[in-house]
Amino acid sequence: MPASVIELSQSALQNNFTFLKKQFENTRISSVVKANAYGHGLEPYLKMAVDCGIDHFSVFSSDEAKKVKNIVKQPVDIMIMGWINDEDMEWVISNQIEFFVFNNDRVDKFLEISKRLGIPAKIHIELETGMNRTGFHSRELNRLIKKLSENKQHFQFKGICTHFAGAESIANYKRIHDQIKKFKVLHKRFLKNLLIPKTRHTACSAAALSYPKTQFDMVRIGILQYGFWPSVETYIHFLTHNNIQSDPLKQILSWTSVIMSIKKVKTGEFVSYGTSYLAQKDMKIALIPVGYSQGYARNLSNQGRVIINGQRVGVIGMVNMNMLIADVTTIDKVNIGDKVVLIGAQGDISINVSSFTEMSDQLNYELLTRLPVEIPRVITK
Ligand SMILES: *Cc1c(COP(=O)(O)O)cnc(C)c1O
Repeated sequence: MPASVIELSQSALQNNFTFLKKQFENTRISSVVKANAYGHGLEPYLKMAVDCGIDHFSVFSSDEAKKVKNIVKQPVDIMIMGWINDEDMEWVISNQIEFFVFNNDRVDKFLEISKRLGIPAKIHIELETGMNRTGFHSRELNRLIKKLSENKQHFQFKGICTHFAGAESIANYKRIHDQIKKFKVLHKRFLKNLLIPKTRHTACSAAALSYPKTQFDMVRIGILQYGFWPSVETYIHFLTHNNIQSDPLKQILSWTSVIMSIKKVKTGEFVSYGTSYLAQKDMKIALIPVGYSQGYARNLSNQGRVIINGQRVGVIGMVNMNMLIADVTTIDKVNIGDKVVLIGAQGDISINVSSFTEMSDQLNYELLTRLPVEIPRVITK
């Protein structure tokens, strides 16, 4: 038996996609699966998403695109939003992988290879609208449009896109609106020159919900599909604008381990490395074979919570490389081999993950993306 297991709930994912499809009725959903599907595990996650009818996946790099291509046997569209190794461009184009084009360097690169292979590349032109990350600035467009117009047979114009600088916070309201306006203006310049993109897409999770007009023809949904909100503001905005009381999303991931050992500690003794935890009563403690090398963050030392036999208990002392310790003094019946919930629910109690961690008992979702690939993933109902 492995030291810990990650379970992924198919019914929770189905719930999330049913909800999302209702929000984005006339808009295609691209499922963003970069960073090992936000730590959930790319392989099981792709299978689950395909079973929910998803047929467009977005990744960050060509390495990730290769993995998706190898895993999914059904015909789906794959889109690279960021890094492409030079050596991979040929593979990308010959496998009809879609990709963002955000600078002249990439235009030259893809044209060279498309011409050589005689295969038109499937490109998405990314526009700089105010984030100042990747994308063509308006002053670069004449040159770009000229080059594209001269090479029309060497690409399919799959899309035109941009990315917003912080749609999860109301503080960026004006900036986002300016970006939307700019996007529309720049899009028109392509149309005027008879370069007609098949789709327009701009929205990540937060933009898609909080600024519905950013939905256009496709939305790039990451965090929401896994059952998390991009921010408290997005969550509250959604609830109040739709007059609903409870969270429509379900977290699909749960992470569990078991008790490896139990022992007693006397008042006045320190627990684990160093002096960070001093027993102030006679205690019963449980060792759990999960530590920071398995993704349980060290900053949860003396802070984290786990669920054992239906009770929420505290993590005490430093989180070790491969072990953590829980205070089980208050649990009468506790045995080696009992289940330990690190993330997820048992009965009415849960340990949640959130991108916003002001609330106690919530872990940061940075923790998700750091869950090691080695932890076995199991798909459950
Ligand atoms: C990661 C990413 C997304 C998805 O963001 P979420 O907030 O998780 O929905 C969308 N677009 C781009 C360009 C991204 O890099």
